[in-house]
Amino acid sequence: MRLDVVTIFPAFFDVLDVSLLGKARERGLLDIGVHDLRDFTHDRHRTVDDTPYGGGAGMVMKPEPWGEALDGLLQPESILVIPSPAGERFTQGVAREFATESHLVFACGRYEGIDHRVGEHFAREHRVRSVSIGDYVLNGGEVATMAMIEAISRLIPGMVGNPESIVEESHEDGLLEAPAYTKPAQWRGLSVPPVLMSGNHGAIRQWRADQSMERTRSIRPDLLP
Ligand code: SAM
Repeated sequence: MRLDVVTIFPAFFDVLDVSLLGKARERGLLDIGVHDLRDFTHDRHRTVDDTPYGGGAGMVMKPEPWGEALDGLLQPESILVIPSPAGERFTQGVAREFATESHLVFACGRYEGIDHRVGEHFAREHRVRSVSIGDYVLNGGEVATMAMIEAISRLIPGMVGNPESIVEESHEDGLLEAPAYTKPAQWRGLSVPPVLMSGNHGAIRQWRADQSMERTRSIRPDLLP
């Protein structure tokens, strides 16, 4: 899978070389390009923003540098992903869908966001998705893009050592996962639930299913039908 990111802060993505993502890049499972939006400006100050039409606070990202940057990156098979708090919600389902694609291009907005015509223009010939990672407002699309890259890339076959660990996760079956424990069996007066040490796989499966339902009911009832 190929991922391209356009940003005015390429340094945000230096961490792509560590952990599982770094290994996936080394092993050729992921090919990631990070591009500086300012390289597509043509004035002395490398300007990427301007005042909003209609007035109001803040600045808006100019369409021209975005047009030039994205012209050079988007292929017929690409999806242009525009992080935005006003976008559709990024869920495990969307991550799964994106993980089957061959090319994603992330456009990281700053300030009051990117001139709306950029998405409109590229939607004429490409698939464009405006995506929110949650109901809160970040300063820019970089952290949202990093979160999406992690969620998407761990679903690529071969990325995570044990493929079963992906299947048994929160949100995969629509519920939250049961709590997890490791050694020691006693820690600061707290014990591991005895059923997990019983060796009875049927009972363990049932306990996890019950916990999963109970946790979802108390923490995220909105996930239940
Ligand atoms: N004025 C915009 C609005 O109210 O919809 C918010 C702009 S925000 C300060 C700047 C950039 O941060 C956005 O263009 C987007 O790239 C990113 N961003 C902020 N919150 C986000 C979220 N919840 N999900 C995805 N991207 C987000």
